[in-house]
Amino acid sequence: MKYTTLGKTGLRVSVVGLGGIPIQRTDAKGTRKVIDACIETGINYIDTARGYTVSEEYLGEVLEGRREKFILATKTMARDYDGMKADIEKSLRNLRTDYIDLYQIHNIKTDAEFATCFGENGAYQALLEAKAEGKIGHIGATAHGVEAFERLITEFEDQIETVMFPYNIVENQGEKLMALCKEKNIGFIAMKPLAGGNIEDATLAMKYILANPNCSIAIPGMGDAEEVYQNAAAADADGLTDEDKAACEAIVKALGQNFCRRCGYCAPCPKGINIPSNFLFANYLRRYGLADWAKSRYFSMSATAKDCVSCGTCETRCPYELPIRAMLKQVAVDMGDV
Ligand code: SF4
Ligand code: SF4
Repeated sequence: MKYTTLGKTGLRVSVVGLGGIPIQRTDAKGTRKVIDACIETGINYIDTARGYTVSEEYLGEVLEGRREKFILATKTMARDYDGMKADIEKSLRNLRTDYIDLYQIHNIKTDAEFATCFGENGAYQALLEAKAEGKIGHIGATAHGVEAFERLITEFEDQIETVMFPYNIVENQGEKLMALCKEKNIGFIAMKPLAGGNIEDATLAMKYILANPNCSIAIPGMGDAEEVYQNAAAADADGLTDEDKAACEAIVKALGQNFCRRCGYCAPCPKGINIPSNFLFANYLRRYGLADWAKSRYFSMSATAKDCVSCGTCETRCPYELPIRAMLKQVAVDMGDV
């Protein structure tokens, strides 16, 4: 396993970390096998989230007695002081530890969220307090949109030590900002290495990401030991061969026309539909076997694919010219939202 320094946190992390979303579809026994495989292959970084239902709990259970072997990262959607304070305590209890290495503000997006998080009674104040008390080591944030990514590393570069953002063979919209992260010594954590399940060749996907020197670490979701072995092996590979590059180009060609990159340019929808979230949850349903998880999130949205009235406004804005209306129709069918 190769190791690197995660930006200004100074943490020495394996270049591949465990993404904790799929832990939800296993159990404590399955989680133990995943963690054993991580130790065996040298993976020392675990990323989870308050929002991944039982992920923190299962991890906490199997990490008892060996927590020190790992750098633990988690995150929450809490935006205000009280919410963040409560979630840090909950994460500590769930993970059965008195110390979390990296705590992240999860999926920050709107102006209002930035104002609340970094305002007087915001989540950031609670993070700072927890850091001073020794409950967390470092503070990071995650984003899905380029605009939020840019704000984090320009306006909030003194507050944030790491940023997590999608990066993979077909989602390279953050590449320029990744270079800026490197310049500013902000750790870059690549999420969605398989583009939400759209890329099937996991080894190639990992090789592509790790070939970028501006990426500190990639965190593929891993729900069984085989996936751990496969991703760890990809980390040991020496860059991309010409054959690999051709395979990447073929994937871009195949997915490029009909693949949502979650850039957000299609918003706002007059019916209030969050278009990229509809596609994201459908992918989790189709590719990851996380039907309950995907459906519970899908149906918690105030407007879903079936509310589309086919006005076509979104399609005029999508830079990738996606057939959004047809794609949403398929989402509604797959979700049983008819
Ligand atoms: S076509 Fe559907 S999803 Fe697109 S803007 Fe109109 S109502 Fe919204
Ligand atoms: S549908 Fe198009 S515009 Fe909307 S988020 Fe996806 S890629 Fe971007």
